[in-house]
Amino acid sequence: MLDFHFHLARLPEPFLVGKELQKLGGKGVLIACEPWEWKACIPLLSAFPQTFFPCFGIHPMIAEQVFSQELEELRDFLQKFPEAFVGECGLDKRFPGYAPGEVQERLFVSQARFALELHRPLMIHMVGDYRRALSILESLGFPDSSAFPIFHRFGGDKEVIKRGLSLNAIFSIHPDSFRKASTKAILKEIPPENLRIETDADESFPIQNPDGTQRTPSEIAQSLLQQLQAVEKKLQSL
Ligand SMILES: [Zn+2]
Repeated sequence: MLDFHFHLARLPEPFLVGKELQKLGGKGVLIACEPWEWKACIPLLSAFPQTFFPCFGIHPMIAEQVFSQELEELRDFLQKFPEAFVGECGLDKRFPGYAPGEVQERLFVSQARFALELHRPLMIHMVGDYRRALSILESLGFPDSSAFPIFHRFGGDKEVIKRGLSLNAIFSIHPDSFRKASTKAILKEIPPENLRIETDADESFPIQNPDGTQRTPSEIAQSLLQQLQAVEKKLQSL
C-alpha cells in the first residue's frame, strides 16, 4: 500500500509510526511543505530509505511568510535529494494572496519552474480554480519527461481531468475526493495508471480510538492503511 501524500513528521511519534508502517508493508510519499518540516523529514528519510520518498515544497498557507531565502533553501534541499518531488505547493482561496498575480501565484510559479528545471513531479494543492492552475502549467511548458503535475486530494471535474491527462497528470484520491458529486461522477474516467491514493494525514489525523483512549503508533499505522484500503474500495465500486 502506497500512501501518495502524507505528513509523517506532523503525526505523534513519527519514528514509531514509521516503523509500524514499514512492518505492515506500507510505503509513502513524505510531504514536507514548510521549512521546519523539511528538516524534520531528513532523519525519517534516512531511517526508512526504502519505505518513504521525499517531497519538498512550500504550501500556499504560508506564502506571505516566504522570501527568496526560503526558496533558495528549498532548491538546496531538492538538489540534495535528487529523487524528491517538488511540493506540496499551489493555490488556496482560503489563504491570503490568492488573487491572480499575488503572492501565492508567484510562489507556485517558482516551484513549478524548479520542477521543470530539475525534472521532478510537482505535487499540487488546489483549493479554488483548477483551470487557473492548469493554465499556469500549460504556459510554463509542462509536461517534460519527468516534470508532470500530481493533483493531490483531487477535487476537479471532467475538464480538469482531460486537460490534466494531456500534461501526464497523476490524480491522487483522498476520502474527500468522493464528496463533490461532479468529482465523484468522473473519477472512473481516470486511467488506472494515472490514479494514486492518499490519506493526507497530518496533525489533524485522529489519534484517539473511538473509546477515547490514545492510539498507539501501531494503531495509527493500522488506521492509515485502513483509510487507504477504504479509498481503494470506493474507487473499485464506482
Ligand atoms: Zn498535504
